[in-house]
Amino acid sequence: MKDVARLGRPRPLLARWLAPAGAPEGRFVEREGAAVLAVPGRYCVSYLLVGPEGLGVVDVGSQADVPLILEAIDWLGRKPQDVRWVMPSHLHFDHIMGIDALARRVGAPLALNEVGHATVTGGRAPRFPAWPYLWRAVPTWPLQGLPLLPAEDWREGLDFGFPWGRNRFRAPLLPPFAHGAELPGFPGWRLWDGPGHADDAVLLHHAAAGFLVCGDTVRNYFGGEWNPLLCDRVDYLLTKALIRSLPVTTILPAHGPLVEGPDAVARLRALPPWMP
Ligand SMILES: [Zn+2]
Repeated sequence: MKDVARLGRPRPLLARWLAPAGAPEGRFVEREGAAVLAVPGRYCVSYLLVGPEGLGVVDVGSQADVPLILEAIDWLGRKPQDVRWVMPSHLHFDHIMGIDALARRVGAPLALNEVGHATVTGGRAPRFPAWPYLWRAVPTWPLQGLPLLPAEDWREGLDFGFPWGRNRFRAPLLPPFAHGAELPGFPGWRLWDGPGHADDAVLLHHAAAGFLVCGDTVRNYFGGEWNPLLCDRVDYLLTKALIRSLPVTTILPAHGPLVEGPDAVARLRALPPWMP
């Protein structure tokens, strides 16, 4: 069996040099009946939730990540047809340019929360962080190793996850998951809405294991930090309060390595305004 740390893309040199937390690695974490595999992709980390019978895939940033996810499924000893759904943590391009391609490749539907579902089925573009904050996103690109967009990602006309995009997914959509809903087939896992960075952001939480798959709500470039890129500050305060109320010992962010320990949430930093 291949070494789990080698799953995913080779760790980019720039990210290893520039991000104090380092580049994310392939990781398999298992506790109290919950199991998750982290697979670093081109623009973000994909997480595979491992249920007794099926798999759930959260975020596929690039179409170039599809073979990595298939390799990860094989590493788990599962089959592509075991994927029950593919879910974006939120509708930003660096998390979703590959989700439609993966869903169609494995024959799985897409799963969204109520806000994401209404946005996609309504043919609307989601709200993005306001321009005064967006400059802070630019330095995060070299922190990830300056990934370039491969041809496959351009081919869809950049329709997925951009301020002008309508996210016309071709894979079927499941009925939306409500705030607090249990994830069927994944005992102990619940979906919570976590708006702030994006209106449609979701959190996947397993209370007994203390696992929190959090998309961009928390990042780890600098050792674990609250995301300064926001489209709604008040929603974000409420989402932070929700996270502080949950039992969490392992934060699984979409950018950077895992944040671990009984004080994982308590030690998250709020970055000063001059930091990206
Ligand atoms: Zn984002």
